[in-house]
Amino acid sequence: MNMTRNTRNVPAYMLGHGSFARLDSLVDARRPGAVFFYVDDFFRNTPLPGDLPARAGDSVIFLDTSREPTVEDIDALADAARTSCRGALPCCLVGIGGGSVLDAAKAVANLLTNPGKAEEYQGWDLVKNPAVYKIGVPTLSGTGAECSRTCVLTNMRRRLKLGMNSDFTLFDQLLLDPGLTRTVPPSQFLFTGMDTFMHCFESSRGAYRNLIVDVLAAGASALCREIFLGPGDMLADDNREKMMVASYLGGMAAGNVGLVHPFSAGLSIVLHIPHGRANCHALSVLGEFYPEEQALLAEILERRKISLPLGICSSLTDEQYEALYQGTIIHEKPLSNALGADFASILTRSKILELFKKM
Ligand code: NAD
Ligand code: ZN
Repeated sequence: MNMTRNTRNVPAYMLGHGSFARLDSLVDARRPGAVFFYVDDFFRNTPLPGDLPARAGDSVIFLDTSREPTVEDIDALADAARTSCRGALPCCLVGIGGGSVLDAAKAVANLLTNPGKAEEYQGWDLVKNPAVYKIGVPTLSGTGAECSRTCVLTNMRRRLKLGMNSDFTLFDQLLLDPGLTRTVPPSQFLFTGMDTFMHCFESSRGAYRNLIVDVLAAGASALCREIFLGPGDMLADDNREKMMVASYLGGMAAGNVGLVHPFSAGLSIVLHIPHGRANCHALSVLGEFYPEEQALLAEILERRKISLPLGICSSLTDEQYEALYQGTIIHEKPLSNALGADFASILTRSKILELFKKM
């Protein structure tokens, strides 16, 4: 089936080692007004804060990413920005981090120009007014959050992970500087990097596709194979640049995922397992649906000497199993993309729980 909706992408990017130094002129072009820099807490005690082009009246906010952003986090950040700007809007928001920080910056930018709470915009095309201008600076590659039209937020009350899917969620500008990913630990690099691989194969195996998406996905997947299965250090300079490009291409190919993401979302909601690793746990038991991809994941983990803990869902409470089932089956769009409208007859409750217990 052809995807016929109008497709927008991030309008401008700069790619290359050292491009972070261009943040100064990009931010300057948006002044006058206050600039808000949302920075992953990892960088608090590194030289990076000293390199930010922050002036009096701007705010540098370090975000704790030990857990992924919730709707309450976004409400609090937007409230703080409103208070600090005394009714005016910031002239620019900058998100510097992995998917969690990029998504937080995107969500806050939407909420500053739209009334109400973050959870009111979880869904498709619910954001009514254009967001505050925002610049994305990824420091960890793989989610595609830098170029996607969504920002994934955890909503524990509704027990779901869902983004504000909207053209207004897209960043206005990206700085893609592979130098910023130098400090990423190997397992984090692999788990988040493999998110790109998941987005690509899930999109190209699904029902809603077009040739542009297929070509982007093929390009990004080929890069992932080079990085994770090729010779040498996966964290070498050239591989980190390739991963940044793969994430960007894969982010444009994503949007219609398949079975991995619903199972992964269940794990994140119930057991708070971070997205990239949760995807790998999910794919590790989905071989009957994705045999080649499951084998490839096993080969990559073996090649890079990174292992997934086993038995993560072997002894949970009935309540937790129920929450895992609900947290998975609620994702009707991707499940029907993968298995058709009749997905619930294949993925019965007992089938879903059997798969979780195999992880
Ligand atoms: P993350 O942003 O949660 O960060 C993971 C860890 O890596 C954190 O501890 C962080 O401090 C650390 N880190 C980041 N950059 C680093 C660096 N340069 N050096 C050392 N450590 C660094 O991880 P992620 O996998 O990039 O993002 C996951 C989030 O992205 C989830 O919330 C997920 O739902 C979301 N996501 C969004 C989209 C989208 O399109 N918007 C797509 C997929 C996933
Ligand atoms: Zn993902």
